Amino acid sequence: MLIMATKHSFQAEVKQVLDIVAHSIYKDRDIFLRELVSNASDALEKLRYTQLTQKEIFQPDKALEISIVTDEAAGTLTIADSGIGMTRDELVENLGTVAHSGTKAFLKKIQESGGSNENLIGQFGVGFFSVFMVADSVKFYTHSWKSDAESLCWTSDGNGEYEIEEAPEQDRGSKLVIYLKDEYKDFAKKDTVKEVLERYSRFVAYPILLDGEKLNTMQAIWLKSKSDVSEQEYKDFYKMHCRAFDEPRDYLHFSADAPLAINAILYFPTYNPEQLGFGRSEPGVSLHCRKVLIDPSPKNLLPEWLRFAKGVVDSADLPLNISRETLQDSAIIQKLNRVLTKRAIKHLEEKAKKSPEQYESFWKDFGNYIREGIATDPENQEALAKLFRCESSLLEAGKLTSLSDYVSRMKDSQKEIYYLLGSCRDAIEKGPYLEAFKSRGIEVLFVYEGADDYVLSRLGRFADKTLVSADSADIDLSEVPLADTEGEALPEEEMKGLCDWFAETVGKEKIASCAAGSRLVNSPAVALNQDKFMSAQMMRMMRAMSKDAGNAPMTPVKIELNPRHPLIHKLATARTASPDLAKLIAEQIFDNTLVAAGILENPRDMTARIYQLLEKLV
Ligand code: ADP
Repeated sequence: MLIMATKHSFQAEVKQVLDIVAHSIYKDRDIFLRELVSNASDALEKLRYTQLTQKEIFQPDKALEISIVTDEAAGTLTIADSGIGMTRDELVENLGTVAHSGTKAFLKKIQESGGSNENLIGQFGVGFFSVFMVADSVKFYTHSWKSDAESLCWTSDGNGEYEIEEAPEQDRGSKLVIYLKDEYKDFAKKDTVKEVLERYSRFVAYPILLDGEKLNTMQAIWLKSKSDVSEQEYKDFYKMHCRAFDEPRDYLHFSADAPLAINAILYFPTYNPEQLGFGRSEPGVSLHCRKVLIDPSPKNLLPEWLRFAKGVVDSADLPLNISRETLQDSAIIQKLNRVLTKRAIKHLEEKAKKSPEQYESFWKDFGNYIREGIATDPENQEALAKLFRCESSLLEAGKLTSLSDYVSRMKDSQKEIYYLLGSCRDAIEKGPYLEAFKSRGIEVLFVYEGADDYVLSRLGRFADKTLVSADSADIDLSEVPLADTEGEALPEEEMKGLCDWFAETVGKEKIASCAAGSRLVNSPAVALNQDKFMSAQMMRMMRAMSKDAGNAPMTPVKIELNPRHPLIHKLATARTASPDLAKLIAEQIFDNTLVAAGILENPRDMTARIYQLLEKLV
């Protein structure tokens, strides 16, 4: 009995992908071949893994290989594998929808870029659908590894619809027949296909036959010594094995015998997909034992923060008889993790020393992973802290410093490392917090993101020095002499009276304490942070994030008044001479300190008060 073909519509996202593929000017059209051979190799890998646990496999004796056939006369290219195959439901799911979170993110990005997408397409693949760059239509024949599955044929010309029909007597696995577009008929020629395949096929773990001729033998380049691997091979391997579309920015290839036998190549990519809006990256370093793939994406082999690394790790010490899940939590994986992490950090440290510019470019694109590591990986925190970079008050704008370099520049009398968070360099330099440090020649690190502020406060200490947010209250700079002090200070007794009055006048609910301070130079007053390890900016952000921030009362701040400042002198006189005006001025000074700290929440009262003050002037 003949069963009619069933027609299906592609999911909207697939239509989008197909549209992009059809209209984009992909520079490397041969990418489709890499994608399809990767899919075939994955399918074989999945079958091999299924065989370990399942007894009932369709055509169990069929060799695991990829067979590619060119037919110039017919203008077709056929790629077949004896892998896992697909059932009817799987065909609909895998070739009719976009399940991949990466592809979804890719589409969003393309949409956002408003058409200027060629660059993006070059950086990220679109998997199976890339075949429609060169195909007028395709037929995908398949039989799943399940014995009772149907033999099927999936057909499409990539224009919105596909068909699935029965296609009796298919072998296990998949066979994709590509009916090439006229302009790409070259891919029906053996020589053209061979040239493309030869670059990549030797990194595929299964035999590839091209028109019956065997092409590759699996080359585990990670087992070779560095001097036997060319730069081009490292790059080609990266693209094939890691399914990458960019060039690696850097890699490290190493082997060790103790405490474990390890051969590894770790790649650091050029593009950071997470930074470009793609979802969280999956582990990208595969795990092998004597060339045999154990797990393509093993959890726990590297710490979470190193998830941007790609590559391969081979250890002859791995037990082969336990499941991937059990292995993930085993002691040996922990040991591998430790060794690999230390190596990766050491490599980055060396890079930072030898090629600071390259390292800074890495920091710009991948710094967030290092920040994450500092905050979440206590074992490597200290080493990772050395990789941290930020601007500083002593360096020109745009120049970055490490914490170690900061420490080497510290004055003998300086005990702590200071940092300030602000929206930009200008905001910090013009704000009231820097002047105390500047006038004493003390360097302050500048950070412009809450993440940096958080990381430095989590770090807490570096090289035996405490890291302190420069706007916190209990910083004692008295041991460092002030370079330039102008103006006469009000006598201590008088200042005390003024401070008490100031706190009383503005209100205890707003001011925790008020005192004369020695840190100020040009500003009359400053609001300081009660929490030594959290900046005012950070508190503001946390407040903004909490649910009922609008209604919650503000945390009272500590106020320091500058006994040398002319305004404070005048305020001391006005307190008795014109108490109403003095009250307004005190309140205004207080609000100004909150503005400078970035924590003034309701400017309405302030505006009304300014009008009152202005009235008194005219
Ligand atoms: P990706 O390979 O990145 O998941 P693709 O678009 O290339 O995305 O493929 C989608 C899915 O189709 C794959 O995840 C896989 O499940 C299935 N698939 C593709 N090619 C084959 C094949 N040759 N054999 C079995 N399944 C395949």
